[in-house]
Amino acid sequence: MKRVYIETYGCQMNAADTEIMFGVLGERGYTRVDDPALADVMLVNTCAVRDHAELRVAGRVGELSRHKVNGAILGVVGCMAQRLGPTLLEQSPKVDLVVGPDGYRHLADLIQEASAGRRLTDTAFRSWEHYEDVPPVRAAGPTAFVTVQRGCDYKCTFCIVPYTRGPERSRQLRDVVGEVLGLAASGVSEITLLGQTVNSYHDGRSDFADLLRAIGEVDGVKRLRFTSPYPTDFTDRVIDAMAAVPAVCEHVHLPVQSGSNPVLRRMLRRYTREQYLEVVAKLRAAIPGITLSTDIIVGFPGETESHFAETMSLVEAADFDDGYTFRYSLREGTPAVKLADHVPEGQAAERLQRLIDLVRGQTRRKNLGRVGTVQDVLVEQRAKRGGMLGRTRTNLMVLLDLPEDSVGEYHQVRLTGTTGSTFTGTTITQSALAVL
Ligand code: SF4
Repeated sequence: MKRVYIETYGCQMNAADTEIMFGVLGERGYTRVDDPALADVMLVNTCAVRDHAELRVAGRVGELSRHKVNGAILGVVGCMAQRLGPTLLEQSPKVDLVVGPDGYRHLADLIQEASAGRRLTDTAFRSWEHYEDVPPVRAAGPTAFVTVQRGCDYKCTFCIVPYTRGPERSRQLRDVVGEVLGLAASGVSEITLLGQTVNSYHDGRSDFADLLRAIGEVDGVKRLRFTSPYPTDFTDRVIDAMAAVPAVCEHVHLPVQSGSNPVLRRMLRRYTREQYLEVVAKLRAAIPGITLSTDIIVGFPGETESHFAETMSLVEAADFDDGYTFRYSLREGTPAVKLADHVPEGQAAERLQRLIDLVRGQTRRKNLGRVGTVQDVLVEQRAKRGGMLGRTRTNLMVLLDLPEDSVGEYHQVRLTGTTGSTFTGTTITQSALAVL
């Protein structure tokens, strides 16, 4: 029996792909190990979105190559593998295998060939590939990711994803629902649907609204989340379905990237600042108490101080509950490489700091206002420093003093304090809840 170790970087889609790889390899007799020193095969599932992520992987590949003893195979898979292809083999003599996200079905055969001494690359796009017949091997727990769509057709000028994950394609609704039924039967009560622009899901007959409603019918699914949606794919149908399906959680991560129309145009985002804010208003009106988080890029080519001021004002206007902020990172192979007027690093760093201060301040202010409220919390896992970590429907993390076997339980929790970003809380009894 062969042992495989997989190290995963990047987004939740990559985490879900790692589960597929464990499924593919499990069917061919591989067992999973969590220590690379014990592995016959080491795979690094990579991200290509930022330069920094790729540099980290390059360093990690160097470290893992120390464990290449007794014929162990070292492979680089995922988006960085797709982006660099054979170049990666040339740059990294210790790497045996380079496989893109559409090549995992044949992983065991590729490993076998690599074991025979061939260094291989498989970066073909397979637009039909959904790994439909491969049962993902997931970690036990009350939550699960379910990929409903692969690839992206939007081609934002800063983004490498359309070139590493290929064109958009959606799974059939009946297949997704079938997978969710199986997960619910095994005790999973929270599902997160994954797609690059998840709310543009369409299987030829059914759209994302249909998908939400269908999954909402599955017995045992208490919470339904999705990531990442694209702003203009929030049609009225989708928003109505979100409001109508009780399992859909009151949180949306809604990447905006910039608050300035000229910058949004250069990014080839397909909305204006005004349209984005209209979506925010519709979501808030349809789903009371919804929290919104976002992604913002600072220092995109051509961004002036007044464009940046518009991003700052949009953060306030949208009243985000949280935000992930990034300094623009030039990616070879993306259209933005050809844009002029690159923002000097120092200036971009200074703008980023101002944005971070604004977002953090806003998050902190809003979270302080939540202390004392009672929330429905799902206990997810043990916290690193003791206690248990749970999550509210609105995506707030809460540290709880509960036993380890409470994973998967739902509790009514009073939030007792906040660090500004996470909370502490105490469980309250049903009878206490009744008199609130
Ligand atoms: S929508 Fe834009 S940012 Fe998102 S994956 Fe597609 S190209 Fe990248």
